[in-house]
Amino acid sequence: MDYYRPDTTENALSWLASHAGQSRTIAAGCTDLLAATQNSGLCGPVLDITGINEMRGIAEQTEAWRIGAATTWTDIIRHPLPPAFDALKLAAREVGSVQIQNAATIAGNLCNASPAADGAPCLLGLDASVELASVEGARTLPLDAFILGPRQTALRPDEIVSAIVVPKIAARGVSTFLKLGARKYLVISIAMVSARLVIESGMVADAAIAVGACSPVARRLDVLESRLKGRPADASLASFATDALVAEALSPIDDVRADAGYRSHSAAELVRRAIAAITSQETEIAA
Ligand SMILES: Cc1cc2nc3c(=O)[nH]c(=O)nc-3n(C[C@H](O)[C@H](O)[C@H](O)COP(=O)(O)OP(=O)(O)OC[C@H]3O[C@@H](n4cnc5c(N)ncnc54)[C@H](O)[C@@H]3O)c2cc1C
Repeated sequence: MDYYRPDTTENALSWLASHAGQSRTIAAGCTDLLAATQNSGLCGPVLDITGINEMRGIAEQTEAWRIGAATTWTDIIRHPLPPAFDALKLAAREVGSVQIQNAATIAGNLCNASPAADGAPCLLGLDASVELASVEGARTLPLDAFILGPRQTALRPDEIVSAIVVPKIAARGVSTFLKLGARKYLVISIAMVSARLVIESGMVADAAIAVGACSPVARRLDVLESRLKGRPADASLASFATDALVAEALSPIDDVRADAGYRSHSAAELVRRAIAAITSQETEIAA
C-alpha cells in the first residue's frame, strides 16, 4: 500500500503534488475516516499527517490565534486561551469520548463537513478562516466559504488544510456552547449552539451566535446578532431569540435523530439558554 507519513508540511505537499489525479486520502486522527469505511483499513494512497509537528499546536500571533490543522481536541482543551474560546473548549469536551478527543483533530472535523460537526459553529462564531496549502503556496478562506455543504468543501486535490486562523479582533468577549443529543455523552448533535457576547459597560457591544445540525452547514444568526447589539446585557436579552427569528436562518431536516420542527424549536431554546448563561455570568462578575 502507498502510505506516507512525512514530518514536514513541505514533504506532505510534494507528495500530494506527485499524486495529482489519483484518489488519495489525507489521514489525521482517522475517527471519521475509519467510521466511514466498511474495510479493515484505508484504501489507496494515504498521506498520514500525524507526524508533522509544525501542524500541531496553538500559537498566539500579533493579529491572530493560529491553530495547527492537526491540533487535537485534547490539545485545545488543555491550551490556555481567552474566554472567547470557551465555546470551542466546551465543544471539544463533547466530541465523542476522551479517547476520540485525544486522536481527533480540528481540521478533520471541518474537512469531514458533517452538518453535525461540533467545531463548526464555535469557529464560525470566532470569524475563523481556513488556511489551505499546496506546492503553489497558501490561500486563506473564511470558514463559511470553505464548508460548502454536507461532505463538501472548497479543498482542492493538491491542497491540505494547514491551519485554522482566528483573528484577535474576534477573540473578544465571553462564549459558551450548548449541545442537545439523544443522551448526555458520546452523542451526535440534534442541535448545537455557540454564543459569544462582547459586553461593555453592561451593554452588548458585539454578538456572534451560530447554530449547527439545523441546516446543511452551520449558520450564523445575523439578524438576531444585530438585534442584540446595543441592548442591555441583562436577563431580558435572551427573549429576543424568538423561535421565529432563530428558525428564519435555519433549514433543519427530519432524520432518525429528530424531526425538523423539534430541531428548530430546540435550537431556539439552546440559543436563549446560551445567551442567558452568559448574561447571568456577567451579572455575577459585575456584582
Ligand atoms: C465514536 C465517535 C464519536 C464522535 N463524536 C463526535 C461528536 O460528538 N461531535 C463531532 O463533531 N464529531 C464527532 N465524531 C467525529 C470525529 O471525531 C470528528 O469530526 C474529528 O474531529 C475528526 O478528526 P480526525 O482527525 O479524526 O479526522 P479524520 O477522520 O482523519 O479525517 C476526516 C476528514 O478530514 C480530512 N482531513 C483531515 N485532516 C485534513 C487536513 N489537514 N487537510 C485536508 N483534509 C484533512 C480527511 O481526509 C477526511 O476526509 C465522532 C467520531 C467517533 C468515531
